[in-house]
Amino acid sequence: AVSDLPVLRLSNVESAYGPIKAIRGVSLQVRRGEIATVLGANGAGKTTILKTISGILDPRKGSIAFKGEDITARDPAWIVQEGLCHVPEGREVFPLLSVRDNLLMGAYTRRDRDGVARDLEAVYRYFPVLKERATQDAGLLSGGQQQMLAISRALMAAPHLILLDEPSLGLSPKLTREIFEIVVRINRERGTTLLLVEQNANMALATADYGYVLENGRIVMEDTCARLREKEDIKEFYLGVK
Ligand code: ATP
Repeated sequence: AVSDLPVLRLSNVESAYGPIKAIRGVSLQVRRGEIATVLGANGAGKTTILKTISGILDPRKGSIAFKGEDITARDPAWIVQEGLCHVPEGREVFPLLSVRDNLLMGAYTRRDRDGVARDLEAVYRYFPVLKERATQDAGLLSGGQQQMLAISRALMAAPHLILLDEPSLGLSPKLTREIFEIVVRINRERGTTLLLVEQNANMALATADYGYVLENGRIVMEDTCARLREKEDIKEFYLGVK
């Protein structure tokens, strides 16, 4: 169930790479239990938003609160420990570790061994192929399987919030649909809150509850995805798709 309490709140956030301002005045909220999405064309600043939230990039202005606590100046390891996991673009699994060891790396801060064992079984139920390949090197997995592993590794941390960067990147439409279906199941069954950034507007609008449209580093529109889906011009003007 979605609650009105924001689990994540960005207020007027600005981030830059040297002289290049990548996002400006970004304010957004993710409510507990929902899937929120940030849509935008290539280079709009989607990845920058996620990097700023997870502490990889320090914002120049503004503030970020997670579960009511200011995390603006915190380092990434501390933020993970608080229950906020980032699945980066390009997956970044450990190629020379087995699939199972990649998953256990996701749980490295946890002390509840029974809980870790239960979550490993849960992940294997969501993505049975990861169980079949548990002892193989992760580097041997296909792109889609590596995406499944990256999402699953985040789940192993038992997070409150997962930041998911462009999960459809490089995947076939069929595989993309499969992965998004599981993302919805994870959200509904485990109550995990998700913030998804996507160039694939159709898929993201079909999956998420609430959406923000980003253009040149600024949020230009926000609404429920049900309403955004009805606005055909959004896709054409802001997202470069028809
Ligand atoms: P993509 O889907 O291609 O990742 P995006 O919406 O995630 O696009 P960002 O990666 O956040 O966009 O990039 C936003 C802007 O910041 C772009 O203009 C980009 O060129 C610039 N940028 C991103 N990373 C860097 C960097 N490391 N150094 C300099 N400029 C960067």
